[in-house]
Amino acid sequence: MASMIEDAINGFYLGDDKLKELTSLMEAEFEKGLCKETNDKAEIKMLPAYVTETPNGKEEGDFLALDLGGTNFRVLLVKIDKGEVQMFNQVYAVSKELMTGTGVQLFDHLTECLWDFLVQHDMMCQLLPIGFTFSFPTKQYGIKKTTLVRWTKGYTATGVVGEDIGELLNTAINKKFKIRCMNFDLKIMSTVVNDTVGTMVSCAFDYPKTCMGLIVGTGTNMCYMEAQEKIKTLEENEVTPGKEMCINTEWGAFGNNSGALNAVITEFDKSVDEDSPNQGQQIYEKMISGMYMGELVRRVVVKLMDAGLMFVGTTSDSILYTSGLSTAFVSQVLSYDYNQSDFDLLKNYISGFGAVATNEDCVVLKRICEAVSLRAADLCAVGVVATAKRVVANRGNVQVIVGVDGSVYRRHPTFKDLLVKKTMQLAPDIDIRFELSTDGSGRGAALVAAVESRIHKLQLK
Ligand code: BGC
Ligand code: MG
Repeated sequence: MASMIEDAINGFYLGDDKLKELTSLMEAEFEKGLCKETNDKAEIKMLPAYVTETPNGKEEGDFLALDLGGTNFRVLLVKIDKGEVQMFNQVYAVSKELMTGTGVQLFDHLTECLWDFLVQHDMMCQLLPIGFTFSFPTKQYGIKKTTLVRWTKGYTATGVVGEDIGELLNTAINKKFKIRCMNFDLKIMSTVVNDTVGTMVSCAFDYPKTCMGLIVGTGTNMCYMEAQEKIKTLEENEVTPGKEMCINTEWGAFGNNSGALNAVITEFDKSVDEDSPNQGQQIYEKMISGMYMGELVRRVVVKLMDAGLMFVGTTSDSILYTSGLSTAFVSQVLSYDYNQSDFDLLKNYISGFGAVATNEDCVVLKRICEAVSLRAADLCAVGVVATAKRVVANRGNVQVIVGVDGSVYRRHPTFKDLLVKKTMQLAPDIDIRFELSTDGSGRGAALVAAVESRIHKLQLK
């Protein structure tokens, strides 16, 4: 029976050989996504983001930034002046009903939040250029038109897939503001950016060598600067030889149909996927990101409880059965040590979830959390190395700085160190440095809008 515990835990350990094999498979999927003939069928879409330059410090102006992530919506006012950035922001909740309702309701809500923010800052009816961080896969037609490829994370709002995100926003703003503002003249310049892109750009403002942007939060994704000649999905007239363009990889979809992850997928991954709103999609993301980490742990625990191997004496309506565990739970469990006084604290914490734990249960629970977290970091390192290899192929063996953000990277107690360690082990020849990005989704999006206006020499002040 004890071997059931060992089997469950061991399923999450991947050796370096396996990780290296996965790195090559991912590189091959990157190629497919970049190639015109294979892009249609490619699982990793390698979406051109039409960001060709990172900030040069000469950007300036006042911007609004909107940030729709996996969990919240934020509105920010970003003032950029002589290399200094000042920010004011407000977080708004997005209810599950709005995430899964209609697109019109969702965009009306976003506009209502924007209005509230402008009222607070005494800026009603006065719209600045907007950098809109939209943390979902989008297809860009140049910098101005951006359509949603598909929803990910908890979102399913209808009538948005395939639509122009900037348009939906403009329509909603127009509708709300027209009746509230006299002579409202809608001339919004909105630039839609993926959160990875904002993260890379924001980090590049501080570290010019930044050429990759990583998010490990509710979801996970990476963007990087690619040689334009290698982006075969671009039209010929969009390519300037010798120049780069940012690619939003949308790597979360790795394993969707290539079978690349089949050898490492566990029964727990399968059941998490089956009960998700986007079954069969974002397979790699579901093995790494915060939306699923606690749920993976919960499913292992439930299996062991059902077999009478854990939390014996807990009643069946325990929260462990009925609702999800968050990644914060995993972080909390991992923050205790293996000693009696920490076990007492942990038992107390677990009892808050309606479960009765022994010292042995604490050990098993901690080991499950460690295994799930380690695998997440290992798999993420695979992606980092696969991406860094592309950068090095273009730029030569220079230092590669990865701007990073996301709740898992920031708040999980061991993830970051595990990621850095495994990345170094998998790519000892590449000088990869991770830098925490300062508010990519806010400052970064505003900077993208600012770089845009600098390039287009728009007078904004
Ligand atoms: C989305 C990406 C996003 C990532 C991190 C994924 O679910 O598809 O566009 O960058 O989450 O927020
Ligand atoms: Mg975010």
